[in-house]
Amino acid sequence: MRTCPCPKCGTLKTKLAPRNRMADRLLGTLTIYPFRCQLCAHLFTTFLGKLKTNPRRNYDRVSVQYPAQVRPIRDPSQRVVVEGTLSNLSLRGCRLRTTQRIPMGCQVMLEFHPAEYDDPIMVDGAIVRSRCAEGIGLRFSSLLRSEERRLSRLLALRLPDQTL
Ligand SMILES: [Zn+2]
Repeated sequence: MRTCPCPKCGTLKTKLAPRNRMADRLLGTLTIYPFRCQLCAHLFTTFLGKLKTNPRRNYDRVSVQYPAQVRPIRDPSQRVVVEGTLSNLSLRGCRLRTTQRIPMGCQVMLEFHPAEYDDPIMVDGAIVRSRCAEGIGLRFSSLLRSEERRLSRLLALRLPDQTL
């Protein structure tokens, strides 16, 4: 089985990345594809030698069940708190199940409580990118390096190794 380890951090938890740029499409005809490391976000290209469909997502999300709170950044009182449960998670985003309403495009801070850690993981900046009856989708825009490392360790336990 062929593997594509990340040249930066060495993990096998990498994923075919979307081929959005013209250069990616041209290289794609030669089966030279972009890959995204799921743990350190490094983007690299590799000659694969076989055709693969163009994936939609940069990051695979893992299923979780973590209690979480969301606070709109522009709320000066910091009192508006949306409570919910994180239902999936990647290095750059998550889905939150909640019955409370929060508008599209809203900038928020996110705090969630993984079972594996005593302290919550804090995401300084996230944007509401989708909404549905069950909750909201968030994209992370700002994350401290130390928190990203803790998040990365959680994902390392759950993501499958890439096999091609
Ligand atoms: Zn990496």
